[in-house]
Amino acid sequence: MPIDKKKVEQAVRMILEAIGEDPEREGLRETPRRVADMFEELFEGYEYSDEYTWFTETSDLVVVAGIRFYSLCEHHLLPFFGVVHVAYLPRGKVIGLSKIVRIVRKYTRRLQIQERMTKQIADEVMRATSSQDVMVVSEAVHLCMAMRGVKTPAPTVVAAVRGAFAVDKSLKEEVYKIIEPHRFKGFPL
Ligand code: ZN
Repeated sequence: MPIDKKKVEQAVRMILEAIGEDPEREGLRETPRRVADMFEELFEGYEYSDEYTWFTETSDLVVVAGIRFYSLCEHHLLPFFGVVHVAYLPRGKVIGLSKIVRIVRKYTRRLQIQERMTKQIADEVMRATSSQDVMVVSEAVHLCMAMRGVKTPAPTVVAAVRGAFAVDKSLKEEVYKIIEPHRFKGFPL
């Protein structure tokens, strides 16, 4: 369902009033509309389909490292962002790099928490590739932590480790070795 932009505009106007701002002053007059337009893009993940084309290929380990993402924390509506690394062992089905990026967008361009996002990406990669052996690592800084409360500039790391990656320690280590140069350093960007 597309987002209700009129409603977003009204809500933003109300927030501006609630914090004691004047929604009619020059700098703010267009802000509700701008936020509504922006939300359409930031939340487009809800609209993505789950049809994936794949091709047959025999390949060992596939790792797509350092996919940048931007998402919004569902607790504070503030950005959290960083990188996602995706690894899987193909079972005859390989999906293109752009499809992996699309899966990442699908689950980042919506309200999220990093843990669920990481699991959902792993689940979708499993569905798209028909492989049980999937590993997804996400690294992110959360502005809701950086701007307020406990100020932690270090990235939060979350991993979803499935199938062979969960039982074969050396396989998991191989993934960490491959992604090492692409890891997220956090602030400063
Ligand atoms: Zn938060």
